[in-house]
Amino acid sequence: MPQEEKTLRADGQNNDSLNDDRYNAQRIESKWFDRWQQDASLYAAEPHSTRQKFYVLEMLPYPSGALHMGHVRNYAIGDALARYMWMNNYNVLHPMGWDSFGLPAENAAIQNNTPPREWTLRNIAAMKAQMKRLGFAYDWSREVTTCLPDYYKWNQWFFIKLFEKGLAYRKKSRVNWCPKCATVLANEQVVDGCCWRHEDTLVEQRELEQWFLRITNYSEELLRDLDRLPGWPEKVRTMQRNWIGRSEGTLVDFKLDGATDPANSTISVFTTRVDTIYGATSVQLAPQHPMVARFTKNNDLLRASVDQLIAEQRKAREVGDIGEIEKHGVNTGRYAINPYNGEKVPIWIANYILMDYGTGAIMSVPAHDERDYEFAKKYKLNVRLVILPAGDPEEPAVEPKLPFTTSEGMLVNSGPFSGQSCEAASKAMSELAELKGFGKATVTFRLKDWGISRQRYWGTPIPMLYCEKDGIVAVPEKDLPVILPENVDITLTGGSPLGRVPEFVNTTCPKCGGAARRETDTMDTFVDSSWYFYRYTDASNDRAPFDGEKSGYWFGDHGIDQYIGGVEHAILHLIYSRFWTKFMRDMGLIKNDEPAERLFTQGMIIKGGAKMSKSLGNVVSPDDMVARYGADATRMYTLFATAPDRELDWQDAGVEGIERFLSRVYRFAVRNARPDDPAWSQPVPANLDTQARGVQRKLHQTIKRVTDDFQGRWHFNTCIAAIMELVNELYAVSVVAGDSPAQAVPVPLLREVQRTIALLLAPFAPYLAHELWEMLGEQGSLLRAPWPKYDPALAKEDEIEIPVQVNGKLRGRIVVPADASEDVVRTNAQSDEKIASMISGKQIVKVIVVPGKLINIVVK
Ligand SMILES: [Zn+2]
Ligand SMILES: [Zn+2]
Repeated sequence: MPQEEKTLRADGQNNDSLNDDRYNAQRIESKWFDRWQQDASLYAAEPHSTRQKFYVLEMLPYPSGALHMGHVRNYAIGDALARYMWMNNYNVLHPMGWDSFGLPAENAAIQNNTPPREWTLRNIAAMKAQMKRLGFAYDWSREVTTCLPDYYKWNQWFFIKLFEKGLAYRKKSRVNWCPKCATVLANEQVVDGCCWRHEDTLVEQRELEQWFLRITNYSEELLRDLDRLPGWPEKVRTMQRNWIGRSEGTLVDFKLDGATDPANSTISVFTTRVDTIYGATSVQLAPQHPMVARFTKNNDLLRASVDQLIAEQRKAREVGDIGEIEKHGVNTGRYAINPYNGEKVPIWIANYILMDYGTGAIMSVPAHDERDYEFAKKYKLNVRLVILPAGDPEEPAVEPKLPFTTSEGMLVNSGPFSGQSCEAASKAMSELAELKGFGKATVTFRLKDWGISRQRYWGTPIPMLYCEKDGIVAVPEKDLPVILPENVDITLTGGSPLGRVPEFVNTTCPKCGGAARRETDTMDTFVDSSWYFYRYTDASNDRAPFDGEKSGYWFGDHGIDQYIGGVEHAILHLIYSRFWTKFMRDMGLIKNDEPAERLFTQGMIIKGGAKMSKSLGNVVSPDDMVARYGADATRMYTLFATAPDRELDWQDAGVEGIERFLSRVYRFAVRNARPDDPAWSQPVPANLDTQARGVQRKLHQTIKRVTDDFQGRWHFNTCIAAIMELVNELYAVSVVAGDSPAQAVPVPLLREVQRTIALLLAPFAPYLAHELWEMLGEQGSLLRAPWPKYDPALAKEDEIEIPVQVNGKLRGRIVVPADASEDVVRTNAQSDEKIASMISGKQIVKVIVVPGKLINIVVK
């Protein structure tokens, strides 16, 4: 009786059988879990090694209390890679930590009436247990918890360094304020006018004194170095380029006509097309432009119109795309003077001009700009053509269709610049502006300085003091960390919670010894994640954020070897951490220019076509999956369902399918692992029969596919499919043999195949792989066992030569794989050079293929 049937019958009945071959994930996983827990140094990176280093890192999670499936997918990718690199003899650093400051802790703490620290540490413990149960191979000796003083002390230290270098400064500014968060948001945290955390909450503008980091000092370098990151997804680089938003242009000062106060009579406009300035027929201001308040001071009607424009702007942000706003404006009745020709042009206020873009003022050139043209048509403003298609100056060009937006034309109606090319005129006009003092060529960036003040409790206290005598004073380094006080009432709203703790606020000035007040704002939590990956290289250092030599070993010249995380961090975290790296390099702390050489962004997990969310009730809990199918099946499914960069639509049945596959692998080993057989460790014989050769070929092809994918495109889904095919092949041989495959496959090959399957599964299903390793009688740790190598000769399909006949006469021979289909044989024959020339121009009547023997093409 075939064993397959025997097993099916035994399933669920025969518990006491010694040869119980059912796969029991819980039993296997708990056995290995216990063993792994006993070895604290199992996944430890070596501080020094003759082996090559490899730093693989997944983005650290926010400790919300439970892992979600997106985490599991992210970590399963990183863990597979870490294990693969260990097996390839690298010294691997694979750490994990907690991005544990931040608003959700505060809100959850309020809801659950638990102090944020307690709540956060409890969540960390729970999630750490989940990670361990899932079998992720982290070096926990390097764990980083950003909300603990031993870490945030160094945020404060860095802040003081930034302050000393003039890169941290305080200024009054209009800030983005989320009424739900009750705190300031960075520009990067405003998404379509709403809070990045509260997608339904419109961000307000408020005036506040804030701390800023001068990230704009690095705008040019942050942009330029994107070209040096070919290992990053192009979409991420594009998003960063757009965010940094460099544009070259000219600043031009228009004077307010009839101004009585010359000090405040300039409207600076930024334009990328100064060559069109003779065609400017109005100046347009953002409704929030400082000049607007002056115009509306004694003009209630205008004030009302401006309020309307502001309301429209807000509405447009609410809907999403401000660029799509229906353009409205109002004429102020005032004029500005074009410094190039002295012409007076009307000043308008328009709803599509944004104060946080450029200078908040533009010159409007309807003839040569889409948006300006649309606006001018609507309000019947002058349209003046100043650019014509480049051509023969003797032969006037035909008037172009408006708006004519090319920058490769020739100027007309432009005073002394008429006749020049756009490019030459731009240069000459910028120079003239600079010479005459009414403007200059300039480069602007969309990127703004990073506002880091937060009026919240659960963050790093900003280590600054205010003294009546000395002004702003940094806390001396020896007094760090400034400890975040506990037992603070965070339920009250309005202002920084720390401001309500007198013991915290009131202190002594280190300069004069007099009374001083502490800064009560805390830092944006993106500060924490801007440098945490350096801390992993020296996590318990209490004299410095980390040792430069240690970080130097792991970062090398190019940074983290592989960073893995969600594409939602393409801008915020990944620009801030690039900035931080460049700042640390300039401090002399590190040598690398960029934090990560390669970046991979995994796709999202959805279910039933929608993002998993509590409100939709479609959240799949990793704990449930692990309890039902085991950790191996759960994590392997997240890699198998689709390519890791694609969106994954979760199917429980898919996890079940993986469990069935693992079960097949296990059952096969139960029956075919025979380490006590004397033939077991013999070399694989050279002359195998066709069937055994087929297994051997499949084996080497599978090693090749899995290895290639790890080194290339990371399509783990196809790797795993390849391993499945190999297992199928084994079972097929088993069926053909009518009994144990040992009869069809020599014992040494049987060992090699099973051993290789254990090795290939190790990155994806580490628990079962370890169990197999032991069943096969292998000694030594699977974690460090060498990755299998394939033999190209053995992987190659066997080939045969087939005679080709034309009308029954032998005309040539072709070489095809032994198992080539009729179609393959036919195509190969017809594309053979000799045969092709022989049948060209003739009609093929029929083609006869005798598989493995010959092909006859009948033509007339
Ligand atoms: Zn919010
Ligand atoms: Zn003082």
